[in-house]
Amino acid sequence: MSYLDLDFKSGQARRQRQPLRNNRAPIHINRIIRGITALVTLVVSVYLILSFLPDSSAKVENSNLKLERLHYSVLLPGKDIQETPQPSLTIEPPIQPESNWETIQIKAGDTLASIFSNAGLNASTTHQVVQLNKQTKKLSKIRPGQKISILKDSEGKLTNLKYMPSLTQTLVIKRQQDKSLTSELLHHPLDPIPVFKSGEITSSLFLAAEKSDIPESVIMELAGIFGWDIDFALDIRKGDQFALVYNELFKDGERIRHGRILSAEFINQGKQYKAVYYTDPKGESGYYSPDGKSMRKAFLRSPVKFSRISSRFTRKRWHPVLSKWRSHKGVDYAAARGTPIRASGDGKITFKGTKGGYGKSIFIQHGGKYTTVYAHMTRYARGSRKGKRIKQGQIIGYVGSTGLASGPHLHYEFRVNGVHRNPLTVKLPAAEPIDKAYRAHFKKETRTYLSMLSLMDEKKVAQVTQ
Ligand SMILES: [Zn+2]
Repeated sequence: MSYLDLDFKSGQARRQRQPLRNNRAPIHINRIIRGITALVTLVVSVYLILSFLPDSSAKVENSNLKLERLHYSVLLPGKDIQETPQPSLTIEPPIQPESNWETIQIKAGDTLASIFSNAGLNASTTHQVVQLNKQTKKLSKIRPGQKISILKDSEGKLTNLKYMPSLTQTLVIKRQQDKSLTSELLHHPLDPIPVFKSGEITSSLFLAAEKSDIPESVIMELAGIFGWDIDFALDIRKGDQFALVYNELFKDGERIRHGRILSAEFINQGKQYKAVYYTDPKGESGYYSPDGKSMRKAFLRSPVKFSRISSRFTRKRWHPVLSKWRSHKGVDYAAARGTPIRASGDGKITFKGTKGGYGKSIFIQHGGKYTTVYAHMTRYARGSRKGKRIKQGQIIGYVGSTGLASGPHLHYEFRVNGVHRNPLTVKLPAAEPIDKAYRAHFKKETRTYLSMLSLMDEKKVAQVTQ
């Protein structure tokens, strides 16, 4: 409650306390009436003054009023004089300040309805605001710690609302002259500042990153970039070095979080790998080597994360279900039923359905040369259908045990020109390099971040010459 509201109320009260006025009367009784009026005025005035004086009897009888008045005078520094009745006081209209915003800090369990209700706004206003459009639906997902600011008109109706659904967005709702509500979602991106960090592995990549003050999620991203060439579980050695440039994102000078890696280098067992982030003029982005080759391969090595290989590619093996010797032309990944299965490369679904021992399966054609097969699914992913274009890593189905399977697992095949090859050892082709048309653009765009990395090369030279 603002002190101006109280001022307004006491003004109302004073207005009611001024009923005394001289009325015009015929001249012959004018004197008498004037005398009586004067007497009445005197009596009433004395009564009014006494009732507002802090005498002892009033203290007892009106202790509540007294407390209330005391409370008001605390809220109204310097205004308590106006509380005593002054017959000559002119009533000023309540001043509506330019900024009378009420800001509410959202607590656990709060809903927009409860916040509006506490702020004196009715349920239909809540409904009107939330149902206004897609932007204002964000108000139905408020979280503790966030703030909502509201402004009401003199009738207590909502006129403005401000809410930040995220650090980079502000939702503004306004009541227009025709009483309708409109909304606007303002975007204020964080300011990126590139930072350079480097480290050397003495025990583990994570400890080295921690020592160099590199966030864990950034080092995970680094492992993802080089993960096509380096097996971070098996290949890492003491003395391996890394350097990277990534964005730190600021808002009003305060560091909020980190952005993506812009360039990175990893020296694994003496072999150097470099990568730089690039977005081509068509909007396609990814990590490339400085000479424009894609850092990723055209195929994932394994289509199931968090799995173990339960059966390898063999010419001959004992088949537990058929109880006879058979060759195994794929790799089996044992995983919990329902584990997502990802397309190992970009391509097109050429078959989806139940096929003999394969059970529920999907075949994907990748260009003219490669086909991958995914069998024993418990179910398909939504949108997986014959003829559909699929991106590498896209979920196409879920691990199950349909067809000839002793337990839930993915049977995965990799075929080159129709011939079954071992998915674990076949040489995987690299993904598409930078389009020739964009080579000049690529060089120009990536120069700065690659040169920031060369700081590490200088450091190495310095170590050698010491
Ligand atoms: Zn199998």
